[in-house]
Amino acid sequence: MNEKSIINNLSTISLPQIKERIKRIIEDIPKEKGKIITYSKNFTLSLSNYCINQCKYCFYNHKIFSETGNKNTILLENDKISILVENALKYDCKEGLLISGEDPGSFPEVKVKLERLKIRNYIFYVKKVCDFLLNKKILPHINIGLVKIDDFKILKEYTASMGLMLESTSPRLYEKGGVHENSPSKLPNKRIKHLINAGKLKIPFTTGLLIGIGESLKDRIKDLLLIKNIHEKYGHIQEIIIQNFEKKEGINYQPKRKVPIEELLKITGIARIMFNNEISIQVPPNLISGFEKDFIEMGINDFGGISPITIDHINPKKKWPQIENLKKICKMNGYNLKERLAVYDKFKNNSSFLSKRVRNIIHKYTQIKEI
Ligand code: SF4
Repeated sequence: MNEKSIINNLSTISLPQIKERIKRIIEDIPKEKGKIITYSKNFTLSLSNYCINQCKYCFYNHKIFSETGNKNTILLENDKISILVENALKYDCKEGLLISGEDPGSFPEVKVKLERLKIRNYIFYVKKVCDFLLNKKILPHINIGLVKIDDFKILKEYTASMGLMLESTSPRLYEKGGVHENSPSKLPNKRIKHLINAGKLKIPFTTGLLIGIGESLKDRIKDLLLIKNIHEKYGHIQEIIIQNFEKKEGINYQPKRKVPIEELLKITGIARIMFNNEISIQVPPNLISGFEKDFIEMGINDFGGISPITIDHINPKKKWPQIENLKKICKMNGYNLKERLAVYDKFKNNSSFLSKRVRNIIHKYTQIKEI
């Protein structure tokens, strides 16, 4: 079947049909593995909210953030990092999620601070933070926007996994009036190249779609196919996030139409059908509160990072669920909620994907001796 027919077929499938197909996919999971939904106990280090883009739905970018009365982070200071890490260790967090705007190192304010800290550039700053986390036996997962291939190589040694949301490659979003009209690093070719480079360098990778920013159902399916094709070539994608845009105070963006929950469920189910049992499908639990059962029926098998100590910086009003509550919900629907690390098991012994230092920490947690 060609791409067009696949997209047409999947876009007309009904929710009950999806449910049936997912039941069969789940039946294929070996019994000894059990019915499991995973999450990672993490905390976020928001390194810098300086960003070269101006995505219309964004609340995090330094321009919008300060306009809404908040204090920007030029570069997260050492003392703040230390406090966060000490707190994270008390709560047994094993993943440090490092986020920032795109290319903060290009701003004069950031450059001045880097000079003062005697750090060569922003990538070396990120490397230094990762190094600190690894010394504390915390696994870094970084999501700092586009990086050059040489910078990828530097960071790979210090990270368990990396991420970049593909969001959407729909051309409408980049045209006049679209949400990415003023976001040069969101151009589809650049995002696709980033995903491919991560694959070429064998970096365990997370990507996903942002739903409700002006894309159509067919655009979403097309993007999932694109991710699938890249993964089939490089084998590095570990999870796909299906994330819904949530309205927030302080930003002007109003989607032309709110995506109904059925549509969100549908693309989640289609993702599970497309990626079968090969790649995890994740929805952020704080954005689907009250609909967990419906998403479980649509085949999600991961809730992503849940933090006992830090907020969701992108959706600050959406609180993380209590892990115990989520456990109960999973149980009621026939699943066990299980903690995972920032990198999926399939990569944990693979020296092409992970540095020895990272593997040693993974082994400490999984109590498997290094071969
Ligand atoms: S790239 Fe990220 S931080 Fe920058 S404007 Fe877009 S959504 Fe906001």
